[in-house]
Amino acid sequence: MIFVGCDLGSTTGKIVVLDENLSVLGSSIVRSSHGPIKTFEKAVEKTAESMGISAEELLTKFKNEGRVVTTGYGRSNLPGYTDEVSEISCHAKGASHLCPSVRTIIDIGGQDAKIISLTEDGRMANFVMNDKCAAGTGRFLDVMASILRMDVSELAPCAAQSTQPASISSTCTVFAESEVISQLASGVKRPDLVAGICQSVATRVAALARRAGVREMVCMSGGVAKNGAVRRGLEECLNVSIAYDPRCQHFGAIGAALWAYRQASKA
Ligand code: ADP
Repeated sequence: MIFVGCDLGSTTGKIVVLDENLSVLGSSIVRSSHGPIKTFEKAVEKTAESMGISAEELLTKFKNEGRVVTTGYGRSNLPGYTDEVSEISCHAKGASHLCPSVRTIIDIGGQDAKIISLTEDGRMANFVMNDKCAAGTGRFLDVMASILRMDVSELAPCAAQSTQPASISSTCTVFAESEVISQLASGVKRPDLVAGICQSVATRVAALARRAGVREMVCMSGGVAKNGAVRRGLEECLNVSIAYDPRCQHFGAIGAALWAYRQASKA
């Protein structure tokens, strides 16, 4: 049997396929486009490629020997796949599987940020979420990177060159956008601006984390965890060290695949 987690987020779609020993057989990350069905198809194609088989073969495996759990914003929109689990439960399961002593997960995705508190045995105790405003999410970083004509993956290395991080005073993405443009025009150095942008996300998410309460050990999940400048900013604001796992963006999909495994073991 295979166990499949499919995380259809606002910004990216992720699939992880596990075997019966919970080893990863294949995985993918694709940009969300034209709705969850199209995103799912693209993710299936890329996952199949990672496994050296065709998309048709992989879909047949899903049907004949697979258990599939969907999560993320688009999880209810996939005809034929009815096993759904919330992304909070999936991030909790994925993170606590990979990092059993984690008690607080800081999840920053494309359009929201969540702080998830876990019990000693890795179950979700409570969570707080910011989804009303793009500031403090990946969207803020995506908008700023595009103004600066950079890829989001270049932000942290650029911020590392900063000697005097700029202060971004606007908390609203729209105002921050014009603030960044005018600071750039007035000669503020790009690394200083980028450091200020990353710090602004860290400061906002740290305020959310303080509301939820932070217990160590702390880890990050979601795509923004890949941004080392945001991670370090959060560490400084919260005065904790934050564990980093390069599979951070897949935590939700890994958790969904683990739920699929659990459902199959109970059946
Ligand atoms: P969602 O699940 O909400 O769709 P993700 O958890 O996939 O979102 O996170 C997407 C965000 O991650 C993007 O908006 C982007 O800012 C950030 N991101 C993605 N890849 C990288 C990278 N290589 N380096 C830094 N940030 C990244």
